[in-house]
Amino acid sequence: MKPEMNDVSEKSAEVETQHTKLLILGSGPAGLSAALYAARAELTPIVLTGIDLGGQVALTYMVENYPGFPEGVGGAELGELFQKQAERFGAKVVFDNAQSVDLSKRPFKVVADNGTYAADALIVATGARPNHLEVPGENELIGRGISYCATCDGAFFKDRQVNVVGGGDSALEEGLFLTRYASSVTVIHRRDSLRAGAILQERALNNPKMKFMWNTVITDVIGKEKTEAVKIKNIKTGEEAVSPTEGVFIFIGHTPNTQMFEGQLRMENGYIQVDNRMRTNIPGVFAAGEAADSHFRQVITSAGMGAAASIEATHFLQDEAG
Ligand code: NAP
Repeated sequence: MKPEMNDVSEKSAEVETQHTKLLILGSGPAGLSAALYAARAELTPIVLTGIDLGGQVALTYMVENYPGFPEGVGGAELGELFQKQAERFGAKVVFDNAQSVDLSKRPFKVVADNGTYAADALIVATGARPNHLEVPGENELIGRGISYCATCDGAFFKDRQVNVVGGGDSALEEGLFLTRYASSVTVIHRRDSLRAGAILQERALNNPKMKFMWNTVITDVIGKEKTEAVKIKNIKTGEEAVSPTEGVFIFIGHTPNTQMFEGQLRMENGYIQVDNRMRTNIPGVFAAGEAADSHFRQVITSAGMGAAASIEATHFLQDEAG
């Protein structure tokens, strides 16, 4: 009797499992560019959006370095355009979030919040998420003065003083965006020179609303119902102080969203290792964008990696079909 029971459960599992030639995890520039190329190759790919539709770029106010938009383009708008273009050729974008994967055999199995998928080939484009300072008070006050997205939360800080943490492109770009609302924006940076590109540095340093606090770190976020102040420390002099503020925007880098692939895909520092054809260590599994790129991390490079992964996945499936 037992084999029959197994047969039945396998059959019902088959009914629930959606089979696709190509499954793409993530709807940022890498995932949707992969979807565009795969759709044009008539693979009718399924894209699981993940929690953040459009990925990190959709939370960016303005993108000025994606070619084809001489006046810049809103991050959310760019995400929508990517999606529309992929869907026009038959990509299916599904609002679902993958929770676990089994890459031990094909078809690869992906269990998501709303369904299970079986895929002949897989493109991982799960992106990255913002790092936290990991100081007392930070987690408790997220959404109540602590933010990782100026585009999302900037408008709540009209005529207020806010702090930005970090010295990279994100910190300056988001800090400049915040000057639209805030009365002043203080960039708190742990060193005495910025990592950001020259144009952003020039704009930020010349903006009358922007101030800089060098060689300084936040050691505590203080507040009960909302953020009221930060404890700061000058790491050169050791001097400590409490600085009142209602908003702290943190831009200190990212961590790739790759935990579910641990032990299955080869990784380095959490980033999926790919060769120059976006192939992972498992044939049929490709990776693109910030899940696999700790270096460039640009919209255009992620989009390019997505396209490349898709071309490779198409060849992989074609070769197999003979
Ligand atoms: P990033 O370049 O890695 O900069 C992170 C910043 O946070 C650095 O200044 C770093 O300080 C600081 N930091 C790191 N950990 C810290 C900690 N625990 N406490 C305090 N400070 C800390 O990250 P990003 O600015 O997000 O940029 C990531 C990539 O995206 C880059 O390649 C960037 O070019 C790109 N990007 C480009 C644009 C654009 O071109 N418009 C916009 C946004 C992002 P140190 O400098 O001392 O290391």
